[in-house]
Amino acid sequence: KRNILIIGGGGVARVVAHKCAQNNAVLGDIHIASRTLAKCHAIIDSIHDKGSLQRPGTLQAHALDAMDIEATKFLIRATRSQIVINVGSPFLNMSVLTACIETGTAYLDTAIHEDPEKVCENPPWYGNYEWKRRQACKNARVTAVLGVGFDPGVVNAYARYAMDTYFDSVESIDIIDVNAGSHGRYFATNFDPEINFREFVSTAWSWENNAWKANAMFEHRKDWDMPVAGLSTTYLTGHDEIHSMSKNLGVPNIRFWMGFSEHYINVFTVLKNLGLLSQHSVRTARGQEIVPLEVVKAVLPDPASLAPAYSGKTCIGDLIKGRKDGLPQEVLIYNVCDHKTSFEEVGSQAISYTAGVPAVAAAMLIAEGTWDIGEMVNVEELDPKLFIALMNRMGLVTRVRSAQGDHIVDPQPDVI
Ligand code: NDP
Repeated sequence: KRNILIIGGGGVARVVAHKCAQNNAVLGDIHIASRTLAKCHAIIDSIHDKGSLQRPGTLQAHALDAMDIEATKFLIRATRSQIVINVGSPFLNMSVLTACIETGTAYLDTAIHEDPEKVCENPPWYGNYEWKRRQACKNARVTAVLGVGFDPGVVNAYARYAMDTYFDSVESIDIIDVNAGSHGRYFATNFDPEINFREFVSTAWSWENNAWKANAMFEHRKDWDMPVAGLSTTYLTGHDEIHSMSKNLGVPNIRFWMGFSEHYINVFTVLKNLGLLSQHSVRTARGQEIVPLEVVKAVLPDPASLAPAYSGKTCIGDLIKGRKDGLPQEVLIYNVCDHKTSFEEVGSQAISYTAGVPAVAAAMLIAEGTWDIGEMVNVEELDPKLFIALMNRMGLVTRVRSAQGDHIVDPQPDVI
């Protein structure tokens, strides 16, 4: 399969576009579409500025409202795209997936579908939307790899790889996401504030003893000794991958921990308690209807504008506990990514970089056939070895820390 249509013109789309350009001998033509044509043109300009194209080839911008299924189908056909990488907002997933099923095009995304009207849904999240289209994918022989960013995405592959390689049985998987970087602003979110806050305003679900457990956000705190980042404070948070991994891996405890500074929590709590994170409109004294969250979004820094000044590193990985050969075993499988290096290479910070690179690695595995399985899957259902090996070469290096020490993981060094 060849020719890529990238949907979205944000930080992650920028990384995806650069990485596709760096691999266009395999991926073919590259098309970028969002509602704002100028965003797509800016990405193309930066690819030319940095000389990212592996070889001369098509690189084109398009204006598209991807909520419009017919317009999306038209663009897929007009560009002869065989793989769509959906890195637009999570509200677009179902319309883009439908366009892919109806045109027989492979589909990738990096986040679970969200309904703008529903702030937080109860598990089973994937079951509410994407998984309802499984049979349709199978009938159309369409490959759809869901949630192939870093978390969800790489952390799912890490779990699968570690279970296959280091364990006979696994008791718990703790996914730990720490951003030890600094953007130097008083307060900002690393991606769309609306999406960011939606994640934290409601119940934090975790998978405990083979059952869903509801927790309050910021109720459970845990400090971890993370490589490079050092002692890091995290809080139990609900996240997409807990749902699919709990269904697919047979592990009794799966939790997601996100790093937050005290400052972030204080500002967030004030905004929330004042009602400024509400999506319900209020009427001002002058009779204007305004949505508080939209006002907050308007006054916060544009997440993309943080990238040039961002310094420090992210460290994201899975701490896995279980048994091997009758003995207790503990393994941390992880990646460290540098904000500045990411910016110098592709013009985005490390959070966008860690989400975008895996999506392109997955596209390459579909293009080359290994992951082109003609059905809908989550990442942990696929063989992780080639994926990890490919990402090692594309800028995201996987390491493992265990009682035996800390080393790079390179599952199949000569395959690609
Ligand atoms: P941004 O908000 O920066 O970008 C989203 C883009 O979607 C915008 O450029 C917007 O452009 C475009 N868009 C929105 N609505 C439409 C529409 N109707 N039609 C076409 N394009 C549209 O987000 P990010 O780049 O930071 O993130 C992209 C995705 O990646 C999100 O789903 C996010 O949740 C996910 N993500 C996943 C991570 C992971 O590790 N798995 C980590 C980080 C992000 P315009 O307004 O011009 O249309």
